[in-house]
Amino acid sequence: MADPTQFVYFFGGGQADGSTEMKNSLGGKGANLAEMTRIGVQVPAGFTIPTEVCNYFSDNDGAFPEGLKEQVVAALERVEEVMGARLGSNTNPLLVSCRSGARESMPGMMDTVLNIGLNDHSVQALAEYSGNAQFAWDSYRRFIQMFGDVVLGVRADDDEHENPFERLLEAKKASAGVKYDSELSAEDLQELVSEFKALVKQRTGQDFPEEPIDQIWAAIGAVFGSWNNDRAFVYRRDYGIPHSWGTACNVQAMVYGNLGDDCATGVGLTRDCSMGAPGFNGDYLINAQGEDVVAGIRTPKRIETSLKDEMPEVYEQLETIGKTLENHYQEVQDIEFTVQKGRVWLLQTRNAKRTGFAAVRIAVDLVNEGLITPEQALEKRRIPADDLNQLLQPVFDPQEKALAETEGRLLTKGINAGPGAASGHICLTAAEAERLHNIDPEKPLILVRRETSPEDLRGMRAAEGILTAFGGASSHAALVSRQMGKTCIVGANELNVDYIAGTVSVGDIVLKTGDPISIDGFTGEVFTGMVDTTPSEIVNVLIKKTVAPEDSEAYQRYAQLMEWVDQFRTLGVRTNADLPDQAVDALAFGAEGIGLCRTEHMFVEHLEEIREMILARDPDTRLAAINRLLPFQQDEFTGLFRVMQGRPVTIRLLDPPLHEFLSERHLQEQPDLAEELAAQLGISVEAVRARTAELHEENPMLGHRGCRLGIVYPEITAMQARAIMQAAVAVQAEGIEVHPEVMVPLVGFQTEIDNQAAIVRETADAVFAKTGTTIEYQIGTMIEVPRAALRSDEIAETAEFFSFGTNDLTQTCLGMSRDDYGGFIGYYRENDIVPFDPFQSIDLGGVGRLIELGVAGGRSTRSDLKIGICGEHGGDPASVMFCHRAGLNYVSCSPYRVPIARLAAAQEALASE
Ligand code: PEP
Ligand code: MG
Repeated sequence: MADPTQFVYFFGGGQADGSTEMKNSLGGKGANLAEMTRIGVQVPAGFTIPTEVCNYFSDNDGAFPEGLKEQVVAALERVEEVMGARLGSNTNPLLVSCRSGARESMPGMMDTVLNIGLNDHSVQALAEYSGNAQFAWDSYRRFIQMFGDVVLGVRADDDEHENPFERLLEAKKASAGVKYDSELSAEDLQELVSEFKALVKQRTGQDFPEEPIDQIWAAIGAVFGSWNNDRAFVYRRDYGIPHSWGTACNVQAMVYGNLGDDCATGVGLTRDCSMGAPGFNGDYLINAQGEDVVAGIRTPKRIETSLKDEMPEVYEQLETIGKTLENHYQEVQDIEFTVQKGRVWLLQTRNAKRTGFAAVRIAVDLVNEGLITPEQALEKRRIPADDLNQLLQPVFDPQEKALAETEGRLLTKGINAGPGAASGHICLTAAEAERLHNIDPEKPLILVRRETSPEDLRGMRAAEGILTAFGGASSHAALVSRQMGKTCIVGANELNVDYIAGTVSVGDIVLKTGDPISIDGFTGEVFTGMVDTTPSEIVNVLIKKTVAPEDSEAYQRYAQLMEWVDQFRTLGVRTNADLPDQAVDALAFGAEGIGLCRTEHMFVEHLEEIREMILARDPDTRLAAINRLLPFQQDEFTGLFRVMQGRPVTIRLLDPPLHEFLSERHLQEQPDLAEELAAQLGISVEAVRARTAELHEENPMLGHRGCRLGIVYPEITAMQARAIMQAAVAVQAEGIEVHPEVMVPLVGFQTEIDNQAAIVRETADAVFAKTGTTIEYQIGTMIEVPRAALRSDEIAETAEFFSFGTNDLTQTCLGMSRDDYGGFIGYYRENDIVPFDPFQSIDLGGVGRLIELGVAGGRSTRSDLKIGICGEHGGDPASVMFCHRAGLNYVSCSPYRVPIARLAAAQEALASE
């Protein structure tokens, strides 16, 4: 508040004390009423009492600060003057509303009183002035009812089920033999007013206040008091609004939309906020009050379809006002208006909420219309980077989803891990999904598992969507499906998946294999049955190539936006891709390289060879088995290098523990496996079982994995390095540039990276000597354990680049298993123990600190050290923004998140300019 002794901010007649800048004091509604008045939009006169007074009121047992009364009285006089009406007048009475309005809108959470100023005299005057007695008495009974409830607390007692005013109203309608409130005559309503007043007297022991000024003070107190009502508290907690803000109170002259057929009331948007099309649109009702639009008693008409014919001049006024507001705010506006005798009055305006589709279209259109600059178009508040998702994923048809909800088909909710919408038939095993897909590729399938593992990959590829009962945002199912661009929900803990019975159940609802199910990867909601989807046009152009760019306006707008994005961002964006087709998708989305190729996915396709390697009795047999894998690896790398055309390709050495390829679980699920392996390798079944048992680990994530594998089995590292270098040599010979970056996982000690780097260099030298070619390559490391971040200066002596593996770094920094945190993270979130899921968005205070230490340490040794991130956080906007601030060179994320990361990077570059 500019002046601590100014408690009242007047607006009206083209003059306003406040402005849109004063939102913190005047609340969104008050600040914009002042602003609209200033720019010549017609607003009924009034004044705003700022939030500071609400806080004073709360802190002082409902007392008002000294000086407020005089200022309110003076402001009321000005309102009377501007509106040409007087409070309590016997000829032309002024009525006012008293409405709350906080800094951020809290729809319906606080109180409002309308029609203040009515009493037994002014009601007569209003009847005469308006020429409509029914309207006047209806306004009076509404006022007593609202004031009685909000201010005087006359509402249903504990033993009553119905509001006592409503009961009297219903009785009156019954005795008058009518169905709707609007059918009651002026006489009926006059009787009802007496009955209402008697009710107030009976419940409160007081007469209903007749003096307008007393009514106003009581309403102001009630509005301020409603900041502290229970539902407002709950809402603020949910939306992170501080309790200390307080609400402003707006006292404003009433205008009437229910005086006749040249009157109306409505709500509108200056552009469509679902898909973003230009043009004023919204709902209106002729001869009605604002609350009738909301209450749904009469079905409103659409402004864009019929208002132009019904009220052409009003339509024109609205269009002009819409343009004025958009030009002024440089944003789409969401307005409330009343038409009184052909004249449009604005009661509210605010920036409109919109979908991702609308956000992109509106931002691009506003630039093309010359209203804003490309820099403004990219602002976070206009297009939250995550909302770009909606442009890329198939979405549930909003009407179909609403129908599913009303039909009670919402089954459960999990963690929304892969955005999109998918419906299909339940499949409980990957093999079954693959089999069914091969029989009928058109039949959509949803793979429902307790959790997934690397060997479910083919089945995941065959399925439309993936749903798991366990696991979190960086579980296998989550990260693989994001990489594939599949819809995915994980950690739906209520789901009981019974593989034996072939059922999926939640409580008493039991679904069988083959039953239809639908998953919304944006919200984590699971529905029974099918819900229709609509495909993404952008994907049709970029990936499926079924639509030509010139035929898609949506694509053209997307492309224009992304051009601006690339103009402003400084952070690089790469992708996590294991296979050439994923890399192709990522390039179409604008990836500038591969930041992580997880090589184990290639091993899963060749389980026979890797199992042979695991079971080998001696180094020679092991080497022979490993070398059988080499051609497959080399092929995949060749494909990646070709696709990437000289862009950097970071290939990570084998990371997962060997038991992911052979474990007790495999032997149980495939009863013949032990014998088959024994026969194949010429060893005993007992030896197979014993070796399998040996591989078992209690804490596999902290076990024999990462570089610890390549150190104990150096032949694995050597084989992978050879495959990489031979592929690079071959592709370079085709005239394509190659930039391999070999990445060592889970390093904590410098000796570990030294050990692995020596093997890679030695192997590379041998390949180069043999082929007579050299390749420019780098050896770097992932920073995935706190020790690596703490000793990054030493590690950078060997490592030529760093990539933060924030999935493991979060797990090891927080001591929170990425596979098991699903059991408590929901509770943690709901009870404000953590502000968000640390596996989705970087925990800045802990993991973020380690990243900063890692960057500083690494660059203290190597000032030009290239640093990236390749954990799942690389596609999370808040984390991308942090990476920009932390000085990383690039982020790497799954292909479908590349555009989101690009936008977030541009937003942060612009914000920190
Ligand atoms: C990581 O830990 O962040 C990472 C990218 O590796 P992975 O998820 O494969 O363990
Ligand atoms: Mg890792």
